[in-house]
Amino acid sequence: MTAVSVLLPLSRSAHDPASLHRSDQAFLDAAWPRARVVVVDADGRFAVTAEGDGLRLRLLAAGDVAAEASRFFLGEHDGVPHFAVLAPAPAVDAVRWTGLREAGTALDDLGAGLATTAVALANWHSTHTHCPRCGTPTEPVQGGWARRCPADGSDHFPRTDPAVIMLIHDGADRCVLGRQPSWPEGRYSVLAGFVDAGESAEAAVAREVGEEVGLQVADVRYVASQPWPFPSSLMLGFTALADPPAALRLRDGELSDAGWFSREQIRQRDGVVLLPSSVSIAYRLLMDWVDRG
Ligand SMILES: [Zn+2]
Repeated sequence: MTAVSVLLPLSRSAHDPASLHRSDQAFLDAAWPRARVVVVDADGRFAVTAEGDGLRLRLLAAGDVAAEASRFFLGEHDGVPHFAVLAPAPAVDAVRWTGLREAGTALDDLGAGLATTAVALANWHSTHTHCPRCGTPTEPVQGGWARRCPADGSDHFPRTDPAVIMLIHDGADRCVLGRQPSWPEGRYSVLAGFVDAGESAEAAVAREVGEEVGLQVADVRYVASQPWPFPSSLMLGFTALADPPAALRLRDGELSDAGWFSREQIRQRDGVVLLPSSVSIAYRLLMDWVDRG
């Protein structure tokens, strides 16, 4: 298998991160008054407006945003600086507040890239407020791309937690899907789990599959990645061959059920209850495999 057939919804982007400006406070101060701003609330929601069949990210003028809110520099687009702020939803006409899971596929490339970065940064700032060395409250620096401890001068950077997600197949017409007990009735998806400390992504694939369904895997192949800021994951997508295809044993209790599914079974249930959300890399891994059959 090769790359996924379409760019993953939350991997899209159209702005220039302009990351060299992050450490230039004079630039950032001068950029703010003419900035366009993504406001993210404490629940990771942002404002959108309807546009055709899709959604457009609603950007605010700097003057419409509370002056005391911390600003995070997202980059530039068409020469215009873009920032995010973490703040309560201001009153804006004709908008709806929504999140990446709901709106991710309907946003255009620019909106998807800005919103995903804004939510990821907002999540980190709201949960990493103190120095891990000494406990002193830290302050945003570098345009929001780091936090600094005023007591010991240490810098701390946004955390990303790598997770693996893998379509396990038999080399023919069946793949492994499982379900977690909390999911809606009938929902199944590919297997996934976090990468352990000191572990490669490929080893995480093999370990998680062994723990969750008792299979040994071979031919582990990287496919694509997608940020998944709920709150801070990066999903690394793989395919792997079950070697040999065998009966499943639910070993670690994370899944309430798992089984082998044929392409036809998945096609029949697409749009009914079976599949993960179309914004997820799980959906793309699964549908690309189905379409190859
Ligand atoms: Zn400190």
